[in-house]
Amino acid sequence: MGIEILLSVVALASAAPSTGTAVVGHSTQDRPIKVHRLGDAASPHKVLVVGCIHGNECAGSAVTRKLVHRKAPGSFDLWVINCVNPDGRRLGVRQNGRGVDLNRNFGSEWIPIGERWDPEYSGPRPWSEPETRAVRRLVKEIRPELTIWYHQPQTLVRAWGQSVPAARKFARFSNMDFARIRWPHGTAPNWQNHRFPGTSSFVVELAPGPLSEHKANRQAYAVMRLARTLSG
Ligand SMILES: [Zn+2]
Repeated sequence: MGIEILLSVVALASAAPSTGTAVVGHSTQDRPIKVHRLGDAASPHKVLVVGCIHGNECAGSAVTRKLVHRKAPGSFDLWVINCVNPDGRRLGVRQNGRGVDLNRNFGSEWIPIGERWDPEYSGPRPWSEPETRAVRRLVKEIRPELTIWYHQPQTLVRAWGQSVPAARKFARFSNMDFARIRWPHGTAPNWQNHRFPGTSSFVVELAPGPLSEHKANRQAYAVMRLARTLSG
């Protein structure tokens, strides 16, 4: 199964047409995790946006849906995942379908936290969950220069280390507050920032509740504007 998924992503990355949708993995309850690819496949500037990883913090999916439906970018290669935790979203919980906090399960500064269904249960070991492994496969394949992870409800842009400059710009473009906050153990940005020096991966914490049309448009605008700065 792993090879098949990898092949479908490789095919998407290298073959015409340059845009499309691929399944990058399946959740523990066998729901597909899809990635949409838009823009200039030949561009060295790869951008990944994930609308939801905590299943009860999915307002960012309204932003990623806008990204998928608006005019494709000309100066970068945009990869979009509406939700990497379809089981958690279906259940209305933060964790995945078997009670693991996916954003504590990445293999960077991973530590054991809690027990199954605790809010930050980090899983039995790093990368124990198919959802985090799907993200690992995709990120290793496309090597995003910029990754944005949507969460709720802190209402700020948060980043640490090498990702601070890009996140500060994003805060300005989206008219949000910025905070320099260290990556928690085992998070996706923790892994990406350590594993891929020189790239940016940070978190946008939207306000609680659903996102208004106006704010979703504003977020999509900020994503596109920041991504365009990559090519100067
Ligand atoms: Zn979250």
